[in-house]
Amino acid sequence: MTSELTIHECECDTCKTGADPETTRHHRQMNIFLSRLDEPQRRWYVGLISQKPNSPSDRQLGKITGLDEKTIRRGRQEIETELTDLPDDRQRREGGGRPRAEKKIRR
Ligand SMILES: [Zn+2]
Repeated sequence: MTSELTIHECECDTCKTGADPETTRHHRQMNIFLSRLDEPQRRWYVGLISQKPNSPSDRQLGKITGLDEKTIRRGRQEIETELTDLPDDRQRREGGGRPRAEKKIRR
């Protein structure tokens, strides 16, 4: 299990060599954002951006986000099937508005 609130440090070549501070900042922001998501949300987000034109390859995205290539592929597939295989708790509970129970957050 990946531990919550751990911010992955990008391992792409650009960040490793410090060639482009702009890119490094962007990748860091991505990882900060990802650190606040839960597991499925993380792979959906990365699966989603992997479909954008000019987006990095899965391999590259794996380096940036620390996710497995397999995980990214899975996220993309789930997005493509519109998450139909996955129950949406909020919808079933009807009326919604109630925030989901928080997952353990380490302090
Ligand atoms: Zn990077």
